[in-house]
Amino acid sequence: MDVKSNCCLCEQPLPPRHRKYCERCSAKASLLWKRQERQGNRGAAYWLDHWLKLTGDLSAARREYNAYMRSYMRAYRLRRRTRRRERNRLEVTGSITGLAFAH
Ligand SMILES: [Zn+2]
Repeated sequence: MDVKSNCCLCEQPLPPRHRKYCERCSAKASLLWKRQERQGNRGAAYWLDHWLKLTGDLSAARREYNAYMRSYMRAYRLRRRTRRRERNRLEVTGSITGLAFAH
């Protein structure tokens, strides 16, 4: 187990109970790490990883992903539409509360 004694960003000696960054650098360490990750992953279609594992081909993975998303969104819009219609119907008849005809 090697213990680093200098800050990873500015190479200053670390204060006690700090593992990687000094006090000043630890505030921006997350920002810098995220920026590095984004630069490393630029252009990579990470959302296709699962489909790539299934199909083994990038264009086939893209096709499968698009087909899945298309059918998913179609079902979602249908669900939303029927829910809205049902809600409107209930609001018109007043049967949400169940008190509309209970005189
Ligand atoms: Zn530092």
